[in-house]
Amino acid sequence: MNEQSGFDVVVLGGGPGGYTAAFRAADLGLSVCLVEQRERLGGVCLNVGCIPSKTLLHAAEVIEEAAELGEYGVTFGAPQINVDALLARKNTVIDQLTSGLDTLCSKRKITRLNGRGVVEDRSTVVVTGKDGEHRIQFKDIIIATGSRPFSLPGVADDPRIWDSTRALEINEIPKRLLIIGGGIIGLEMAQIYSALGSEITIIEMLDQLIPPADKDLVQPLFMKLKNRYKILTATRVTGMVPGENSVAVTFEGKKESGTGEFDAVLVAVGRRPNSAEMGFDKVGLQLDERGFVTVNDKQRTSVAHFYAIGDVVGEPMLAHKAVHEGKVAAEVIAGHVSVFCPMTIPSVAYTNPEIAWMGMTEKEAKGKKIDYDKGKFPWGASGRALSAGVSAGVCKVLFDKESGRILGAGICGKNAGELIHEAVLALEMGATAEDISLTVHAHPTLAETFAFAAEIVDGSITDLL
Ligand code: FAD
Repeated sequence: MNEQSGFDVVVLGGGPGGYTAAFRAADLGLSVCLVEQRERLGGVCLNVGCIPSKTLLHAAEVIEEAAELGEYGVTFGAPQINVDALLARKNTVIDQLTSGLDTLCSKRKITRLNGRGVVEDRSTVVVTGKDGEHRIQFKDIIIATGSRPFSLPGVADDPRIWDSTRALEINEIPKRLLIIGGGIIGLEMAQIYSALGSEITIIEMLDQLIPPADKDLVQPLFMKLKNRYKILTATRVTGMVPGENSVAVTFEGKKESGTGEFDAVLVAVGRRPNSAEMGFDKVGLQLDERGFVTVNDKQRTSVAHFYAIGDVVGEPMLAHKAVHEGKVAAEVIAGHVSVFCPMTIPSVAYTNPEIAWMGMTEKEAKGKKIDYDKGKFPWGASGRALSAGVSAGVCKVLFDKESGRILGAGICGKNAGELIHEAVLALEMGATAEDISLTVHAHPTLAETFAFAAEIVDGSITDLL
């Protein structure tokens, strides 16, 4: 066993949370050891999450857009898809980003250990990797071990029943693909496989797609997708039996119940924390009932010099949340005054059209009985959206009636994931409808629709047509 001591900080897990924490800690002068069980840094996000999915989605989106250009008098032939080249492109992007992280690590003289780390006691982690065992002593530790896909209870281990990692490998293009879960990951995968030629069925237990977002925001996406996929909301999968050539799936729903045969099934019903079998119980680390590590706003756990960040501490399980929490943990350890208290963390579904929202949703505002004003601007009235053929969209903004400040916003439409940041900044700065409508927006842009929604509230737009 190789013994190493003298580290100020050990970071367990090299995903977006872990590598950000390690970089920040090193930049603040701490000696850092970064432990990652995968060969490459980047965690789920870079290796089997955000980045590979967006690379594949880019191709899917271009295919869809090309098909929609008929209205402009431009037609292309059927796309010729070389799956090997598509996967090579995906891998190139991953390689480029992960090797960039390697460089950033070595520039900061961070010690890297490739292996699985398990907490042995309150100052020791044992890392087991290809090159044997290392016992590492630390002053502080940041747990950034992330999450893994949920599997449905009682579901057989079968190569035709996939999780998101498997789906991103594109080993085959099933003729009939069932996606269980109409959330962000399920819908992004649906778009990729639909572009590759699969017939898509989506089964979602709740009564709308992307359940955390407001239903009216998701409606333009739903209207588009329902013509392409079979979508069963308020429907529950009750059984899944892999046969010789297909998987038989039984379901019960509000509108339809029955059995369907599918060539593959993607289970995209959420993720659970990687907090088991890591020795956390040995040191008395407190977990909540779902296994997430509990932390305060300094990312400190129930054990004072143990910090935790990212997916392992809970929702929202998003890379940008992990990154910001990672910075806070490193800064607190370095003795800085730092807390994680953003006014909002934006969410984006990179579907076509995209859905992005931030702050309070309308259903939350109603649930909390908050008095609000609403501005809703349909993209059918936007010159830019119409000229770009993306008029099936909407921008909605809520303002607190009492203070006049923005409470939340949602956008459905092309580039909603980029456009939402103006709303995020408005919320962080406590902007009112007047602040937004007095801000000059370039014309014709999709960003104008956010200003128009605010103008509806401050009364400077009274009639849309
Ligand atoms: P992770 O990225 O999960 O990294 C944790 C790392 O810890 C892993 O590399 C793991 O190997 C390592 N590890 C675990 N246990 C140990 C151990 N004992 N010893 C050593 N190493 C260990 N989020 C977005 O914000 N935008 C998106 O577009 C987006 N798209 C996604 C698409 C898909 C298909 C999926 C699955 C997820 C997506 N996410 C997206 C979520 C995002 O990937 C996660 O929120 C993010 O990766 C969390 O970062 P993290 O650092 O907390 O953990």
